[in-house]
Amino acid sequence: MQKVKTLSDISCRGKRVFVRVDFNVPIDDRGNVLDDSRIVAALPTIRYLIQNSARIILASHLGRPKGEMVAKYSLRNVASVLAKYIGQPVLFLTDCVGEEVLAEVTKMIEGRVILLENLRFHKEETANDEEFSKQLASLADIYVNDAFGSAHRAHASTEGITRFVQESVAGFLMEKELQFLGTKIAEAKHPFLVILGGAKVSDKIKVIDNLLKKADTMLIGGAMAYTFLAANGNATGSSMVEMDNIQTAKNAIQKAKETEIKLLLPIDHVVTSTLNTKTNTIDSTSYAELDIPDGKIGVDIGPQTIELFGKEIKAASTILWNGPMGVFEIQQSSIGTFTIAKLVAESNAMSIIGGGDSAKAIKESGYADKVSFVSTGGGASLEFLGGDVLPGVEALMK
Ligand code: AMP
Repeated sequence: MQKVKTLSDISCRGKRVFVRVDFNVPIDDRGNVLDDSRIVAALPTIRYLIQNSARIILASHLGRPKGEMVAKYSLRNVASVLAKYIGQPVLFLTDCVGEEVLAEVTKMIEGRVILLENLRFHKEETANDEEFSKQLASLADIYVNDAFGSAHRAHASTEGITRFVQESVAGFLMEKELQFLGTKIAEAKHPFLVILGGAKVSDKIKVIDNLLKKADTMLIGGAMAYTFLAANGNATGSSMVEMDNIQTAKNAIQKAKETEIKLLLPIDHVVTSTLNTKTNTIDSTSYAELDIPDGKIGVDIGPQTIELFGKEIKAASTILWNGPMGVFEIQQSSIGTFTIAKLVAESNAMSIIGGGDSAKAIKESGYADKVSFVSTGGGASLEFLGGDVLPGVEALMK
């Protein structure tokens, strides 16, 4: 992979540095921050810039306000959370462009931090509008992209702006994401084990295809596994099977056979009679062997599958995990996911958690600090692992 320039390659002393961060944090109805992991993840870049006497302008989106000013999606509360972490005030501005913003940015002193209001209060942000990109660029000498989670979108603050600033580099979080999801996977020590789960084959087909070229073993759990089991001719009861993707699953199974990659599917299951994924409720659960009886829905991998998968985890030197093994939001169907989390954390392998729901699961399991890396990206991680060049990353290479 082509290397991108990072913050350590340039001098930022006294410079106005526009940092695109990912402060798209979970919030409650009043906009209170429920989980500050993404703020914490941006701290190395922010602290480095403070120590190096830059003038720091932070910008992010929050939620999907669709070009309107929506009070609940204001970044004001994020400013106070951040201020506590960095031990100094964060000047929050009520817009991200315009004369007042320019005036504040112009008079700021070295080592100080400004947080701009939600970029997506302007529809021009997601439209990657040229004029808006120029306005953002006019605030800074240097552009730093530290928002890996937004790098799969060509928006004004992730792509457009790079065309109008003197220098564009990656921040430390972006650098780490590219290093773990890119270089470390490309140069993975063998045996390289990939564990995939989650809801849909259709979301992950590119990831499956791309990683089948690199992995020694691939384990498939979660709802995705039922489409694969159906492709193998197993009974799947009323489990979530994507009929449109049975051929896709067949192709992947065939490809794994041809390239002698071990592709393992669940051999037993936790099942239920009704599952409501909107309210996250299920009936009582029971055990099913490989073939799921009529009317039953697979909601988690069973104990024998955990044992089978566990052996592969123990034998691996590199592990990449993306997607839960079952409906882990519900206690009765969470054992598979949380046990896999524990086994991955306890293994001696270099372990990378590929973002989204698997990142949530590893955090909830309490093992997040025992793995080598947890990606902050959701969709971005999937696109990157699927082999796509992310527009926000490509923009840093130009
Ligand atoms: P993804 O975003 O594709 O990683 O999918 C995560 C979602 O898949 C979670 O909300 C899980 O509840 C859901 N999921 C995992 N296993 C199953 C299953 N067996 N049936 C239905 N949903 C599942």
